[in-house]
Amino acid sequence: MRASNVHLERRFQGVAVSPGIAKGKAWVHRMDDESVPCYPLEHGTIESEIHRLEAALLQTRSQIQELQQRISTSIGDENASIFDAHLLVVDDRSLIDEVMRMIKKDRLNAESVFTTVSGRYIKTLSEIDDPYLRERAVDIHDVCRRVVRNLTGSANRDLTTEVGGERRILISHNLAPSDTAQLNPETVLGFATDVGSKTSHTAIMARSLNIPAVVALHDISLQVETGEILLLDGYAGLIIVNPSEATLLEYAEIERQKGVVELELGSLRETECKTVDGKHVVLSANIEMPRDVAVVRHSGAEGVGLFRTEFLYLNSEALPCEQTQYEAYRSVVSQLAPAPVIIRTLDLGGDKIMSSLNLPQEMNPFLGWRAIRFCLERPEVFKTQIRAILRASAHGHVRMMYPMISGVEEVRKANVILAECQEELRNEGVAFDAKMQVGAMIEIPSAAISADLIAREVDFFSIGTNDLIQYTIAVDRLNERIAHLYEPTHPAILRLIRMVVEAAHTRGIWVGVCGEMAGEVTLTPLLLGLGVDELSTGAALVPRVKAAVQQLSLEECRKLAQLTAGMDSAAAVYSACDAVARVHYPELL
Ligand code: PEP
Ligand code: MG
Repeated sequence: MRASNVHLERRFQGVAVSPGIAKGKAWVHRMDDESVPCYPLEHGTIESEIHRLEAALLQTRSQIQELQQRISTSIGDENASIFDAHLLVVDDRSLIDEVMRMIKKDRLNAESVFTTVSGRYIKTLSEIDDPYLRERAVDIHDVCRRVVRNLTGSANRDLTTEVGGERRILISHNLAPSDTAQLNPETVLGFATDVGSKTSHTAIMARSLNIPAVVALHDISLQVETGEILLLDGYAGLIIVNPSEATLLEYAEIERQKGVVELELGSLRETECKTVDGKHVVLSANIEMPRDVAVVRHSGAEGVGLFRTEFLYLNSEALPCEQTQYEAYRSVVSQLAPAPVIIRTLDLGGDKIMSSLNLPQEMNPFLGWRAIRFCLERPEVFKTQIRAILRASAHGHVRMMYPMISGVEEVRKANVILAECQEELRNEGVAFDAKMQVGAMIEIPSAAISADLIAREVDFFSIGTNDLIQYTIAVDRLNERIAHLYEPTHPAILRLIRMVVEAAHTRGIWVGVCGEMAGEVTLTPLLLGLGVDELSTGAALVPRVKAAVQQLSLEECRKLAQLTAGMDSAAAVYSACDAVARVHYPELL
């Protein structure tokens, strides 16, 4: 700890992404915590060090073979063949002999020598102007990390375990959604990161786990040391290091007030989500994992408006099989029956990377080979999921929707595959709901613009504003540097939402919003005024949205939508919405 900073309160402002206040000791996870230990070998231990290396190489070999086997059964030999190159690395005699020579000569531990030697190989290969050799450098890097992890015994890195079982606030440069999904709210009181944004899946996961979180703090991972006392304010986006007595008292009062509001909101659970002039708005919850069902029921939501199924895939070594998926979906659906559950088909890609799939890295992952594009080219993966969803539909009220639809052709292709699955199950005598509603997410501008065409092929739309905003304004939803340009109230976004609602209603189908915009109570009057039929948001925000709807009149919301249609700036639209919200529910803002 820096001596000069001991006991001095320090404040860091970031972006609040998951509400709540956490107090506790920091646990700082740095990139270089994954760095490799380096220590001299004691006398007489060289042979055992060589054995340790050989054992790690064997372990790596069998892990790669197992992975290859799983990938080959789940998505085909073609994809599994990349592991042949990985196996060549563990068998590369010139690399291994050199490592062994150096262990003997320098008398250093295997992981540090392995890293040095492989690092030299990687550097040399990556500098050669030959795509094949550069590819080899990537393979070596991948395999070497695996060997080193096996040597250091950190093959199954689990951030929660690293916290050491103590309740701590996790500080890190960044967290992947798959890391966040593994956090245990029992031990991780909150987390803060240098980078990040409100609509990243890490933030969405934090909200669903109810872990207070602050992101975009620039260099908090360098400013705080493990063991320092922190106060994390997930409402205002603040990290306070060594909070003073006065600050602690101030926060005790803030917590008390927030508690009162939450208690009042809790009492709305059994009430209807209806405006003062009688318009019922369907209010649903978004979930990421089957475990979220309990919170959904507690929130008073009418069902699930978005089940992000990719979290079932992210931390798994291979694609989950039909039975595993069926059980997960059935558990959600049957617990919530007769309430509807909208299961979204696989939306991998962007920031949701399934590392064990080893898909090629892309320059622009959000614009790449992902979601429905991936599923349509891997019908066996898609069919496994659709069959599982259909089977679950026999146990309650299931709806299914496709992510990342860019035009009607994709919906038609997906529906053909759906029909094949239905036919198969019928022939097998397996029960499913033949009338299951099928919808399209509208989250790409081309889909919004051609919504009238898509409406002919589906039963409903769900507007994914998180992506719709990023693609329309061309603002990476993860990049905190340009977060100020990510504006839900941009006039172009309003026009697209209006267009989608009109296309849906003209065709007689319903339309929801399931992006984070649906949980922003300042924008509730705007969305209602634009004619949206359903709002689906993280379960924790459901009571707030319900409280907002119950204090609004549809007539006033429509006027607001009309008024804002004539505005030319996101800021003007936002303040018009804010003015309405402030009149009706200042306590929720
Ligand atoms: C969206 O894009 O708005 C959405 C709900 O999907 P996701 O956040 O998972 O991309
Ligand atoms: Mg999306």
